[in-house]
Amino acid sequence: MQTCNSVSRAVPCASSRSAARSSSRAHSSRAGGSSSGSFAQRRPAGARRLCAAAAAAAAAPEAPVLPFRVGHGWDLHRLEPGYPLIVGGVDIPHDRGCVAHSDGDVLLHTVVDAILGALCLPDIGQLFPDTDPRWKGARSDIFLKEAVRLMQERGYTIGNIDCTIIAQRPKMSPHKEAIRDNLCQMLGAHPSVVNIKAKTHEKVDSLGENRSIACHAVVMLLKQ
Ligand SMILES: [Zn+2]
Repeated sequence: MQTCNSVSRAVPCASSRSAARSSSRAHSSRAGGSSSGSFAQRRPAGARRLCAAAAAAAAAPEAPVLPFRVGHGWDLHRLEPGYPLIVGGVDIPHDRGCVAHSDGDVLLHTVVDAILGALCLPDIGQLFPDTDPRWKGARSDIFLKEAVRLMQERGYTIGNIDCTIIAQRPKMSPHKEAIRDNLCQMLGAHPSVVNIKAKTHEKVDSLGENRSIACHAVVMLLKQ
């Protein structure tokens, strides 16, 4: 929960700053000999901390409503014989497929993470952990549907999305249109805002040796 962690990390910092300000005010008040300073001095430390935390929470700025949000997704799966290769919901003939808890659809996983990232939500592994038997062998369009639901719930729609599949084999170009059609349907987006690219990995590393497949995606969401 990277984002939530960063938020929860930010709150104590804000509380600390507020506490520091309160403390500083209390000190200056005491220096000036005011009655409020004396009262603050008499309060138990625990009560002062609670007051500082409440003041910090009250003073926290509201989450900004952005007209657009950008998210990046990335995923990689091992390729091994005996597994299906499903990319963007399309069954692609190959001598091996993705090792995964779900159906291993590397492109859909990437798009889900890009949307969740744009919304500052926990990532796909946190929403659909591979330790949960419910997702064993699950079709990845379930994950995408949930990401789209979360996006719509927050009042956003797809602006545009750009995906790059990286695989040495098989050739992806014959499947790009079918993948794009599927993705458009799942996202409720026009084909002119959904782009699918494919690259090899120049025969180097696991990607270039037909031992893995990866995908990158960047998405822009628009506030409706
Ligand atoms: Zn994945």
